Amino acid sequence: MSEVALELVDVHRTFRQGERELKVLRGAELVVPAGEIVALVGPSGAGKSTLLQIAGLLEQPDAGDVRIAGESCGAMNDDARTAVRRDRLGFVYQYHHLLPEFSAEENIVLPQMISGKSRRDARVRAGELLKTMGLSERGDHRPARLSGGEQQRVAIARGVANLPAVLLADEPTGNLDPQTADHVFNYLVDLVRAEGIGVLVATHNLALAARMDRTVELKDGLLVPGA
Ligand code: ADP
Ligand code: MG
Repeated sequence: MSEVALELVDVHRTFRQGERELKVLRGAELVVPAGEIVALVGPSGAGKSTLLQIAGLLEQPDAGDVRIAGESCGAMNDDARTAVRRDRLGFVYQYHHLLPEFSAEENIVLPQMISGKSRRDARVRAGELLKTMGLSERGDHRPARLSGGEQQRVAIARGVANLPAVLLADEPTGNLDPQTADHVFNYLVDLVRAEGIGVLVATHNLALAARMDRTVELKDGLLVPGA
């Protein structure tokens, strides 16, 4: 597939800490085609989370542009950015952030209904996603009754519920033991491959990074090809 899911164009971000200026991003450039899974690596404090927040339209860069499925978001107003976040972007974090009062299935249904889908259609999609993630028997369980790996599989299913162009994941298996992390990651790969989603995964886990299509490293505020 040659379609571009995510593009970062000359992204700059500086934080001010009193007198000091911390130039975290100094012209980061990235193209993630649809269907590609890219690992984002770099030491703690390199700016991985900042980059994902900007790619996810949760933070504004000081300069540069973010394009989601070819659409330039840099100059959008808040309403337009919110709509892109809701309909075209998916997020997965280190902690699952599932709603504790709702079942696994409802956690996957809700974002779809917020995007305007009928409950019926949303439930069909949730059922398919639960099946893909090996969780068909867990749909009616609340998060507290699921294992850590199962919770994270539900969070991934929720992240792609609206069939986003881009899935952004910040240390998505950082909270799991290595074996469970590997298992969860296999599900993530199968799912995003099947759906043609472009994925950017920040990770410390180099074994995990090695299993993605490509690695980019944040170095001195720039994205460079990783090992
Ligand atoms: P990583 O995810 O790679 O560990 P972060 O993006 O979280 O890195 O942080 C990069 C640097 O920017 C760190 O030094 C962090 O302290 C700093 N930083 C992040 N967010 C802010 C903020 N809102 N204000 C000031 N400094 C920040
Ligand atoms: Mg981080």
